[in-house]
Amino acid sequence: MSTTQDALLTRYADSLTGVFGRPARVLVRGEGVHVWDADGRRYTDLLAGIAVNSLGHAHPAVVRAVREQIAGLGHVSNLFTSEPQIRLAEELLAVADAPAGSTVFFANSGTEANEAAFKLARRHGGQDPSGSRTRVIALERAFHGRTMGALALTHKKAYRAPFEPLPGGVEHVPGGDVDALRAALAPDASGATVAAVVLEPVQGEAGVHGWPVGYLAQVRALTREAGALMILDEVQSGMGRTGTWFGFQNPSVTGSDDPVLPDAFTLAKGLGGGVPIGALVCVGPEVSGLLSAGQHGTTFGGNPLATAAGLAVLETIRSEGLLEHVRAAGERAAKLLADLPEVAAVRAHGLWIGVDLAAPRGPVPDGGLAPAVVAAGLEAGWILNATGPDTLRLAPPLIIAAEDLERFVELLPALVAAATTEGDPS
Ligand SMILES: *Cc1c(COP(=O)(O)O)cnc(C)c1O
Repeated sequence: MSTTQDALLTRYADSLTGVFGRPARVLVRGEGVHVWDADGRRYTDLLAGIAVNSLGHAHPAVVRAVREQIAGLGHVSNLFTSEPQIRLAEELLAVADAPAGSTVFFANSGTEANEAAFKLARRHGGQDPSGSRTRVIALERAFHGRTMGALALTHKKAYRAPFEPLPGGVEHVPGGDVDALRAALAPDASGATVAAVVLEPVQGEAGVHGWPVGYLAQVRALTREAGALMILDEVQSGMGRTGTWFGFQNPSVTGSDDPVLPDAFTLAKGLGGGVPIGALVCVGPEVSGLLSAGQHGTTFGGNPLATAAGLAVLETIRSEGLLEHVRAAGERAAKLLADLPEVAAVRAHGLWIGVDLAAPRGPVPDGGLAPAVVAAGLEAGWILNATGPDTLRLAPPLIIAAEDLERFVELLPALVAAATTEGDPS
């Protein structure tokens, strides 16, 4: 790597807390589906800042909205409000087809949106006259964020263990297993019942894994029966990623033509098109009433700048017909990928695609095939992502052209070959 990037990465290592490892590149500029590094090399971005840059980089609508908003009114605190905040809440409720009395709480990130959801669950439990609706169910392999409450919902031991004790009462059950959920929703040995079930419509960090047909509808029915809230974490799946506004509206996610409307759902990632924002949507007046004045708050959440960006994203998805585009482009890319001998399995929900690579003919590179393919991709000018040793995750900007995805599919066999020969010491 060149001296420009090497020098910056050395300064990075000397000045940034080391929780992320060594960054792959120093990026300086982006436009559409492309970004450029500090040495002037161009990359096609199939990750979009981890499903964040939904309109790609420097989309004129986002640039205009942010520029005009910061030049007028950037921040007011929640002692005041502003029209972008109100309009974004209204638009989100409208595209969710949420019933009257539904409301939005704005935060700054996915983990914060889930913290708010966790508090909502506690409030719901606290309203139970028994005083023993204290349990929260999450799923194995779930990812809900890194702050303490969200971390308690996240399953991965390596993320959790160094920070225990975490907020209590959370249990993880196998995802997609209706019987396991039914059993967990029954009162436990001490008589404690469940306040909420929290889950992703499709597990993104786990490698874009959806559920057996009908599972989400079963979760809906079982939580209703048990008096527990159903809370969907749409942080990665929401805002058009799957080709509908939210995963719970997508037949490819729910297995049904009817949406599976939860009691609450969280958003972040793609919502701001690169500007930090999160949201908790409370469905219906009862759930909305669970958090009352003074019970939760944030300084930045819902500020005019972030919500203006969110509005620009939402309006552009609508005006450019991106939901249809996402469905068509994703379906076509998934088909092409599935035809490659280098690919063992494809799981696609719109432009959110998990690709399990087939076992290579030669030796498996250290650290796994998928990370080696990601490294080979970078060398070839593509930003890819691995969620595990054998699994790639594609989450490109929603504006990506079908041809860009086709070029990637054509290139993938060569990337796999490069990854395996580089891993071969001979
Ligand atoms: C990324 C992610 C989060 C955490 O969001 P941050 O903005 O990184 O805090 C939570 N849930 C899901 C499903 C995610 O994909």
